[in-house]
Amino acid sequence: MLTGKHIVFLGGDARQLEVIRRCIEMNGKVSLVGFDNLQSHFSGTTQRELDIDLCKQADILMLPIVGTDDNGQVNAVFSSKKLFLKEEHLRALPKHCIVFAGMARAYLRDLCQQYEIQLIQLLDRDDVAIYNSIPTVEGALMMAIQHTDITIHQSVSLVLGLGRVGMTLSRILQAMGAKVKVGVRSSRDRARVFEMGMTPFHTEQLVDHVQDADLIFNTVPSVLLTSSVLAHVPHDAVIIDLASKPGGVDYQFAEKRGIKAILAPSLPGIVAPKTAGRILARTMIELLTEAMQKEGDPVGL
Ligand code: NAP
Repeated sequence: MLTGKHIVFLGGDARQLEVIRRCIEMNGKVSLVGFDNLQSHFSGTTQRELDIDLCKQADILMLPIVGTDDNGQVNAVFSSKKLFLKEEHLRALPKHCIVFAGMARAYLRDLCQQYEIQLIQLLDRDDVAIYNSIPTVEGALMMAIQHTDITIHQSVSLVLGLGRVGMTLSRILQAMGAKVKVGVRSSRDRARVFEMGMTPFHTEQLVDHVQDADLIFNTVPSVLLTSSVLAHVPHDAVIIDLASKPGGVDYQFAEKRGIKAILAPSLPGIVAPKTAGRILARTMIELLTEAMQKEGDPVGL
């Protein structure tokens, strides 16, 4: 239980609503900053402005998926005001406070390090990334269906990368009857793709494998779909780029060639914010419980 503990939510999107709900169920004291346009009210929570006093009283600071941008701005879709997490706010946090975010840019990482505040990047964790790959892949399939006039069944579908997202995606495409080819760079991953009954190829040979592709899903956070590769992609193929910004496609060249290439960020928050929020909430609560059991109340819980 979070009885008597103060959780400050700073901005976020619909995913955060599930985390708020869970903290209320766990009897935490919840303050909301950047939720002034929220339609439904959470009873027992308080709407606050971000100030030094609030920071001094926080046991947990919950930030959105992309914690802050490089200038400290926090994304807050339920507020019309701009929100900034400044150095003075982080300096004011008690030493036992834990800052949670999906991921953190250098701005947040550096300030937390400077003021010795524990920062947990939830999406860094394998378990969260694997759970999160499920709504990501459902979103990717939604995009593929919307942007093609063929079925996924019997399509030649290329998946670049066999990480947390690539693995889930390849499996689901195969289960839907697609002819799945997976681009990887290690012999271990080539063996795994073969074992899964799909066609492996080395990403260095990508140019030889795009020529008959109907769909190309990129999960590699590097530009593999360069102009020289795109020159061999059929005009009617659709590229769904799942890698984080700036993605893995030379978009200028793709546009010049008339190839449909779509950068599709934040799919869990778009297609399944409730599930995505539950994944974050569950992990956050598990981590807090583990920390309490191991080290005897490091966050004053
Ligand atoms: P991951 O587990 O780290 O997988 C990345 C894959 O890319 C690995 O197979 C890795 O291979 C491969 N790779 C990296 N650099 C490469 C290179 N230069 N050449 C060939 N292969 C390379 O990451 P993930 O969790 O699957 O996420 C993949 C991307 O999707 C990330 O950018 C993540 O931020 C993003 N993402 C987007 C959404 C969305 O909604 N669009 C949702 C979740 C995640 P090795 O193992 O050989 O390094």
